[in-house]
Amino acid sequence: MALIVQKYGGTSVGDPQRILHVAEKVAAQRARGDRVVVVVSAMSGETDRLLALARSIAPRPDPRELDVLLATGEQVTIALLSLALDRIGCPARSYTGAQVQILTDSAFNKARIRGVDVERLRGDLEAGRVVVVAGFQGVDGDGRITTLGRGGSDTTAVAVAAALKADECQIYTDVDGVYTTDPRVVPQARRLQRITFEEMLEMASLGSKVLQIRSVEFAGKYNVPLRVLSTFQDGEGTLITYEDPDMEEVQISGIAFSRDEAKLTIVGVPDEPGVAYRILGPIGEANIEVDMIVQNVGADGTTDFTFTVHRNEYERALELLQRVAADLRARDVSGDPHIVKISLVGVGMRSHAGIASRMFQTLAREGINIRMISTSEIKISVVVDEKYLELGVRALHEAFELDREPAAGAG
Ligand code: ADP
Ligand code: ASP
Ligand code: MG
Repeated sequence: MALIVQKYGGTSVGDPQRILHVAEKVAAQRARGDRVVVVVSAMSGETDRLLALARSIAPRPDPRELDVLLATGEQVTIALLSLALDRIGCPARSYTGAQVQILTDSAFNKARIRGVDVERLRGDLEAGRVVVVAGFQGVDGDGRITTLGRGGSDTTAVAVAAALKADECQIYTDVDGVYTTDPRVVPQARRLQRITFEEMLEMASLGSKVLQIRSVEFAGKYNVPLRVLSTFQDGEGTLITYEDPDMEEVQISGIAFSRDEAKLTIVGVPDEPGVAYRILGPIGEANIEVDMIVQNVGADGTTDFTFTVHRNEYERALELLQRVAADLRARDVSGDPHIVKISLVGVGMRSHAGIASRMFQTLAREGINIRMISTSEIKISVVVDEKYLELGVRALHEAFELDREPAAGAG
């Protein structure tokens, strides 16, 4: 008898028909003798609808009240799914995050889970009931409702699975696994049978929204077997797992991309100690996260400094930079909110040379100008103009033959 945590995303519970379908799947798992905990998202579009509703009243809603509002989306689905399970004769009980006691810190809208009290859940499971838990939400030490950031139900599922020491955490969604890249952009993308925690973490951090970053972090840290599967078709999905020697033979596992990027440049600042701090200090103090940074020293003893931020923060960052520029007597400040980031990810990069040059050659052949580059042990990222996103991703997918199954023994 296994203990399985299943998470169903927004599309999977998008209407009453689909909720009934999910109930059938859950009941079938239980009928095989397994104990099942289900974590659900809000019905698709609901979180966006609630956000828009809040913004129609307050352009920048108070974070505490926003969380009270956003958490209602998931409360609707836990009740509907429990009713659906009941209707087909499968005893079930629903819980909000606060009822379970999914304890978080107090960072409204992006809270981090501190602990999950599994006492009550265990009792239900022992009594033969399916437990249905609201994803994306928790409660802080003062009893205030919090949410975990967009896509946060994945993290709820993994945290519950870790706390219950579940045998597997299954993430059911509208694709049948993790693909070499987003199949909506590259139809030739191929489902991966396995991907390492490390690679999945990079993919998620670099823009692949199939799993929330924190869920992968959590799964790696607490050793939770994690699988991504389709709600709508049977199959093995993709297992997120530890690295084995076979996996190194594959050069590139996937391509991630992010449209949420913007770039800012300050030109002609004095090249002296403390300048980077004077430029980025105010940005950091404003809680704006900086991603890539490039600094170039010119012949005249001044330096140019370029960095990227989330596109939502562009206007604010530009304003701050203009102030810094005046202080530093910089020659110029410029910015571009129409850039994107494309990244190659793979643990095989550690043991294969020439991947970067092949990437640059491929982009050059397509006439795509690279504006920034950054690398780490298992990824290479480039910043390019927004209009080249699809072309770039498709060209790279083809150049690295990601549509082809690797040779036997290689992943
Ligand atoms: P859910 O609502 O079930 O949480 P999401 O929309 O959050 O679903 O995640 C699934 C989507 O992630 C897919 O529809 C797909 O377009 C997108 N996606 C992005 N990158 C990938 C990838 N590498 N593999 C699979 N899906 C991806
Ligand atoms: N409903 C939340 C969102 O849309 C959480 C989730 O679906 O995982 O982001
Ligand atoms: Mg999601």
